[in-house]
Amino acid sequence: MTADSQIDLIPVRALNQVTYCPRLYWLEYVEGLMVINEYVEDGTLKHSRVDDPKTANRPRRERETIHTRSVSLASEQLGLTGKLDLVEEKDGAIYPVEYKRSSAPTNADGQATCWENDAIQLCAQGLLLEEHLGRPVPEAVLYYMGSKTRVRVPLDVALREKTSAAITLIRTIAAADQPPAPLPPDLTYRCNGCSLLTICQPEETRFLQVAGEAVSPETRPATISCVLPELDEGAVLYLQEQGSYVGKRSEHLVVNLQGQEINRVPLAAVRQVVLFGKVQISTQALETLVQLEIPVALLSRYGRFIGALMSAPSKNIMLRVNQYQTFSDPAKALGLAKAAVKAKIANQRTLLMRSLRSQSQDEEDPIRGSDDPAAIEMARMLARVDEASDTGVLLGLEGQAASAYFSVFGRMLHGPVPGSAFDFYARNRRPPRDPVNALLSFGYALLAKDTFSAVLTVGFDPYLGFYHGSKHGRPSLALDLMEEFRAPIGDSVVLTLVNNGMLTTADFVEWNGACQLTEAGRRTFFETYERRKATLVTHPLFGYKMSYGRMLEVQARLLAAYIRGDVPAYQGLTVR
Ligand code: SF4
Repeated sequence: MTADSQIDLIPVRALNQVTYCPRLYWLEYVEGLMVINEYVEDGTLKHSRVDDPKTANRPRRERETIHTRSVSLASEQLGLTGKLDLVEEKDGAIYPVEYKRSSAPTNADGQATCWENDAIQLCAQGLLLEEHLGRPVPEAVLYYMGSKTRVRVPLDVALREKTSAAITLIRTIAAADQPPAPLPPDLTYRCNGCSLLTICQPEETRFLQVAGEAVSPETRPATISCVLPELDEGAVLYLQEQGSYVGKRSEHLVVNLQGQEINRVPLAAVRQVVLFGKVQISTQALETLVQLEIPVALLSRYGRFIGALMSAPSKNIMLRVNQYQTFSDPAKALGLAKAAVKAKIANQRTLLMRSLRSQSQDEEDPIRGSDDPAAIEMARMLARVDEASDTGVLLGLEGQAASAYFSVFGRMLHGPVPGSAFDFYARNRRPPRDPVNALLSFGYALLAKDTFSAVLTVGFDPYLGFYHGSKHGRPSLALDLMEEFRAPIGDSVVLTLVNNGMLTTADFVEWNGACQLTEAGRRTFFETYERRKATLVTHPLFGYKMSYGRMLEVQARLLAAYIRGDVPAYQGLTVR
């Protein structure tokens, strides 16, 4: 048997998955996705009792029966491989016994029976055993641990045909370029216990597949259930005290500065750690954070995003292969770039119009934000995005829209006295030279670390983008995804801080022409930024509520769905 032929063998467990849901098989075996939920964990735990390496492959007589546990078999002829939980030999008969964590279903007469997907998996084990022994295996046993029921399953012709059909289905699906569609509505009850529910997003995918490019809230089905939690749990731990040291003590992160403990946070309450500049962290603390899948983001002392440390990238190498292929296709990359730029301009324009309207003093003749010359110019650029023939043209349109937007950004800042610290005339950066530009740059840096985490969580390579060019160390895809969130998160936080008088000139320092927030000013920024991310908004396409923080992940997942050919188009998030 060659290494290649071994790779082609189908694990018998895959026959169970493909019968339950062909898409589940594709996501797990072709994409390599595996999520541990309570069902998977429980099943693994229960199987571990059967799967004891000390007893593997060793026949043991127990009264009249010989038991052999964890029997590994493979057959090139059948194209199958698998580990049998138990092989039982009794009264001259030999058969596999497969353990299941669930309870046995019952038939109309109240008799214990079995699920078809379990029977097919068992039948494949019987076929392997038959070939291995060179003698017939006419029946086998399913043991349902939930109800402690033994169900005898005849390996008859009908079941063998179904098993053979499942093998053929796997071969067909594995050779396809796209995953199978989500289960039809009459079978979606199966999705409830599916470990890949939050990744698959069956209802959203079905809606986008049916709607095609003409997707809009009007074509949305009456209800789409939100499978991601509305809010992120736990807090983001921002650590910026220069010279401090983060260690781990029992189940806590402990921050010390000059030998004094200045902070102690239970690990269970943390969902992300952000380190600024010279904040040291112990290897033990890092190891624990990575094991707990809590990302650690690194920013320079001045707030520039440097990178993030997370557990090893997910195993779904196919997503990254598809990412490289899709982004190196100029037409596809341009299509995605247009979606990002459209969403960015639309969101900037919405923020501008909303802000100008809110300043209206005259009830008789309210300000119509859309009449503002900058809003008109932005609408003009927006209308031309679809016609852009290449990235250069698109960059030009985006630049013109940004110039119109920032030409009036100062008017969105309520009430700064002309000549005051919070005047804004133009965007400047690297370094920002005034407080408002310092706030904008700081907000975008925090946003970049969050989009970086979102694309890594989904399994992308964050350094290969479709719009921002590749450059050593530039997290291009994180920057691409960030475009649609700049106005609703980054700019919005800046407006909140300035317009509510939450910062004063004392919260900034200037050095060599560069302006930056003080540590106290940053603390206020972090709080406002996290509050904004926790704000619940209705997803414009799916119609359910979730926080902006969650939407970062949803958009990254929609991008993944487009890249793997699951849905026909990617649409950037546009807020109302
Ligand atoms: S969520 Fe439903 S459609 Fe999606 S993989 Fe799981 S069972 Fe299949």
